[in-house]
Amino acid sequence: MEPSLIDVRRALHRIPELGFEEYKTQTYLLELIQSLPQDFLEVKTWKTGILVRVRGRKGEKTVAYRADMDGLPITEETGLPFVSQHEGRMHACGHDLHMTIAFGLLRHFAYLQPETHLLFIFQPAEEGPGGAKPMLDSEEFRMWWPDEIIALHIAPEYPVGTIATRKGLLFANTSELFIDLKGQGGHAAYPHLANDMVVAASHLVTQLQSVVSRNVDPLDSAVVTIGVIKGGTKQNIIAETARIEGTIRTLSIESMKKVKKRIEALVSGIEIGFSCQASIDYGSNYCQVWNDEERVARFMEYSQGREGVTFIECSEAMTGEDFGYFLEEIPGFMFWLGVDTNYGLHDARLNPNEDVLSFAVQHLIGYIETL
Ligand SMILES: [Zn+2]
Ligand SMILES: [Zn+2]
Repeated sequence: MEPSLIDVRRALHRIPELGFEEYKTQTYLLELIQSLPQDFLEVKTWKTGILVRVRGRKGEKTVAYRADMDGLPITEETGLPFVSQHEGRMHACGHDLHMTIAFGLLRHFAYLQPETHLLFIFQPAEEGPGGAKPMLDSEEFRMWWPDEIIALHIAPEYPVGTIATRKGLLFANTSELFIDLKGQGGHAAYPHLANDMVVAASHLVTQLQSVVSRNVDPLDSAVVTIGVIKGGTKQNIIAETARIEGTIRTLSIESMKKVKKRIEALVSGIEIGFSCQASIDYGSNYCQVWNDEERVARFMEYSQGREGVTFIECSEAMTGEDFGYFLEEIPGFMFWLGVDTNYGLHDARLNPNEDVLSFAVQHLIGYIETL
């Protein structure tokens, strides 16, 4: 007996793993893939990811479908019977559904040979440190380079049956931001003998607010958010070090460069003004998700004409997605798939409606057959 899509999703949901640690996920998926008829399939692994090529009847081109594999460092609070068995880990971004939909499509085409070649990409480490870029650069991927590429992301706010996307920019450029400041610690009563990094960090956080308000074109958009500020050890000791952690989001690649340049200038100013040492680390950086106009238009047209589908032309979002790296090199698109839950992505209570699995698989089978 073959597992249902819901069985597959629940099995994956129980074993969430962080980026590049998707060992159990990879093993489980490989077992599923091996249980399919192998006549048209070729399977390769890359780190904790998997690539599956389905040989098409005509095979004039290769169409890729990408699913991300990793979970998040979140303790699940759904109380569901198939709750995460991994302490402090949860599929809170729907990647369990993304993989299940990919498997559903793969299973269909393993039985019914497609016209074109297909490539199923199970990509590790979307949430961090970023698997798309190194996968694209890998020998394994280069050998099976596709002509176009498709991916989806679940959208909690839309009902099942809803598909939303747009031409051009869908998701922003994003970058993490970590700034470390190092000065001279000392006794609280002798500030003249020390060099206080709590004061320096406070100035810097305030100055960073001017980057978006004073340096970015008001008709463009950007965000600089500082989420963490750490420094010091005790109330009567002057802090020797401080750390600021945040994120940058921009709608254009140009603004990302500009924002970073301004941040670097402000940090240099703090170094001079407070006689301290500063270092900046941008952590994981994600390129924008840019939908190829022609290909997304074809998908939009297909989706609008289907019974039981609500199509929404959405606006761009400030979220990040490393699928953007694939789209930088391979034309294609990403779309939002409604899953109807009251909780947002990365929420410990996220509980997508599983009806979406068969809906998405049917919708995409139909679409792929038109290519
Ligand atoms: Zn996420
Ligand atoms: Zn995600």
